[in-house]
Amino acid sequence: MRIGIFGGTFNPPHKGHKKLALEMKNKADLDSILIIPTFTPPHKEGKDLASGEHRIRMCEMMFAEEFFTVSDMEINRQGKSFTYDTLLELKRKFLDDELFLIIGSDMLLSFHTWFRYEDILSMVTLCVATREDKVAYDELITYSEKVLRLTESEIIIADIEPYECSSTDVRNQLSLGSDVSIMTGREIFDYVRLNLIYESPFMEYKRLLREKLD
Ligand code: ATP
Repeated sequence: MRIGIFGGTFNPPHKGHKKLALEMKNKADLDSILIIPTFTPPHKEGKDLASGEHRIRMCEMMFAEEFFTVSDMEINRQGKSFTYDTLLELKRKFLDDELFLIIGSDMLLSFHTWFRYEDILSMVTLCVATREDKVAYDELITYSEKVLRLTESEIIIADIEPYECSSTDVRNQLSLGSDVSIMTGREIFDYVRLNLIYESPFMEYKRLLREKLD
């Protein structure tokens, strides 16, 4: 089996994440994709960072199709989430499968700074998506050849029509009391509101005022 691995903070997950995963599934001909939210220290949780439990639940909503599996392995492992440790664990579990690591182009250009990146490259094929047209295809190829020493056949660089959205945009819009369902889907938006995730103490007042004013 060809298994994709897609990690991120997913704080919260949005349609840009989903588009990336779906398009990579097609481009790399993946059979399934593991979605792995990273561990974040509980003392950092609050208005700008949802708990691991909430992020897992929102990922299950966003990645509901059966070829996705949302994994709590990094959240349960705690401590700093090194991709290397996660891949070692997955390699042991999926002995006969091929692993593909899905990342956005913004992350590729600092890949040589990742803990044991050369070992990572020996365990997976990198699947990189261009993001927001920020990094040109040629720049990605040059970097992967010169810095990572990969040939063109050892990396998948997919030119994906960008869905311009980030979790930061979603949180910013939420802090203004806006409806973000266009970026997250209705289910996640409702979940965020119901559980008061990303809420500051003044949000409720803002909402009330907004209702009263034209
Ligand atoms: P934040 O705004 O909080 O930094 P983010 O939207 O970048 O978050 P992450 O959870 O940090 O989301 O990203 C996980 C992965 O998804 C990264 O590899 C990132 O490059 C990729 N990604 C995020 N948003 C998009 C998007 N709109 N299109 C393509 N890839 C994306």
